[in-house]
Amino acid sequence: MAYQSVNPYDGKILKTFEELSDKQLETALATAATCFETWRHTTFTQRAAVVAKAAAIMRERVDEFARPVTLEMGKLIDKARGEVALSADIIDYYAKNAERFLAPEQLKPSSGEAVVESSPFGVLFGVEPWNFPYYQLARFAAPNLMAGNVVMVKHAGCVPQCAIAFEKLWLEAGAPVGAYTNLLISHDQVDRVIDDPRIKGVALTGSVEAGKSVAGRAGKNLKKSTMELGGSDAFIVLEDAELDKTVQWALWGKMNNTGQCCVAAKRFIVVEEIADRFLDKFQTALAGLKPGDPMDEATTLGPLSTEAALLQLLGQVEGAVGKGATLVMGGKRLNRPGAFMQATILADIKPDNPAFREEFFGPVALFFRVKNEDEAVALANDSNFGLGGSVFTKDIARGKRVASRVDTGMMFVNHPTWTRPDLPFGGIKDSGYGRELSSMGIQEFVNKKLVCVESIDAPA
Ligand code: NAP
Repeated sequence: MAYQSVNPYDGKILKTFEELSDKQLETALATAATCFETWRHTTFTQRAAVVAKAAAIMRERVDEFARPVTLEMGKLIDKARGEVALSADIIDYYAKNAERFLAPEQLKPSSGEAVVESSPFGVLFGVEPWNFPYYQLARFAAPNLMAGNVVMVKHAGCVPQCAIAFEKLWLEAGAPVGAYTNLLISHDQVDRVIDDPRIKGVALTGSVEAGKSVAGRAGKNLKKSTMELGGSDAFIVLEDAELDKTVQWALWGKMNNTGQCCVAAKRFIVVEEIADRFLDKFQTALAGLKPGDPMDEATTLGPLSTEAALLQLLGQVEGAVGKGATLVMGGKRLNRPGAFMQATILADIKPDNPAFREEFFGPVALFFRVKNEDEAVALANDSNFGLGGSVFTKDIARGKRVASRVDTGMMFVNHPTWTRPDLPFGGIKDSGYGRELSSMGIQEFVNKKLVCVESIDAPA
């Protein structure tokens, strides 16, 4: 069964859902295409009324939205509430700012008049991951609905209840049928949707493998796509970092969402002078996490999203150790029901160890010692990924210099990589292309059309 809610805390099946038939899929595509023909002509004010209402509903009913997140993918309940609030903020942000972001831009050509208008592409298709079951949807849907596009979304197989709740949200907020459509479809149907001429743009957030498949299909059809893929963010600690504060951020940067963030701190690159003290305190902090029911606010270590995710990660750790890495702590599943894994640190990962280039999606930290700042930057850049990263130092100017030298889409000084509605999000290299959020995210699927007035005679 492709769409199934399973509680990773105890392995219980909560609900299963049938995939759409091809006929149902065709009806959904036709409805979305028809909806676009009216939605594109609505004003920003009309769209903002619907979009702001969706944000208000999420804020009014935080617990109702948060519960399925915790039940379906194991996010700690207070973090699930936080995700609902963040999603509402993103939705509101575009309700308030979209008109300004997409205002016609007057150019100053050498002669005549010229203006660049932004008009919607049409029906867009998003393929989204389970790790932030609403936030990922909000950052695709809100800007595009405000731009006058309509969206269809294939969400991950393990979070169907969240997917359905988010679709209902838009209807309740007053969006017309077809403005936001949740599609419970197979990978084959994903390909067919991308091929469909009514689809005008494709966005995927997920793994590199899924990105290659979906971007390849979009490319064959000459359709614009954005790809938000995996990462292996460096968390660089320079010798002058404030140690205790840095360790607290290391704990948060690694363990938020049980390490299942694309921008989780994954490679801890620490300058020799401070490395032993950092590792000692980091280990103590990780050892202090309390596993338990993610519905219980006292729990600080939740399960991974699924049993399969746990098995994959355990296999990666075993593989890394088999190729010479040292297990500093953890590395095993917890002796209890559910998809729980010990907080883990691996060290001595040499470039010829496959783990050196892999993404570890969960509570596993890769620890590296380096001689100095230059070595830290070189190691940070020696990655197939280029999503986020961070550097910790008391010297802000130095932090900014290091940040500029790291080849990623986002760098933070004295804070792990994070996200806000007004900050652009996205990466380079195998982490993908395009940006979501901020004024940049809303520009991806609009036609930047030049309208030019040249009232002169044709050359003789
Ligand atoms: P995933 O397996 O790639 O799944 C993501 C989505 O793609 C799901 O909806 C999945 O559907 C679908 N999918 C997978 N393979 C497909 C294919 N061949 N054809 C069509 N659809 C396909 O990724 P995940 O394990 O859910 O998420 C974790 C990954 O996402 C990590 O690598 C993480 O770093 C990345 N991520 C990136 C960002 C970012 O903004 N850069 C944000 C969050 C996560 P099914 O579930 O039905 O297979």
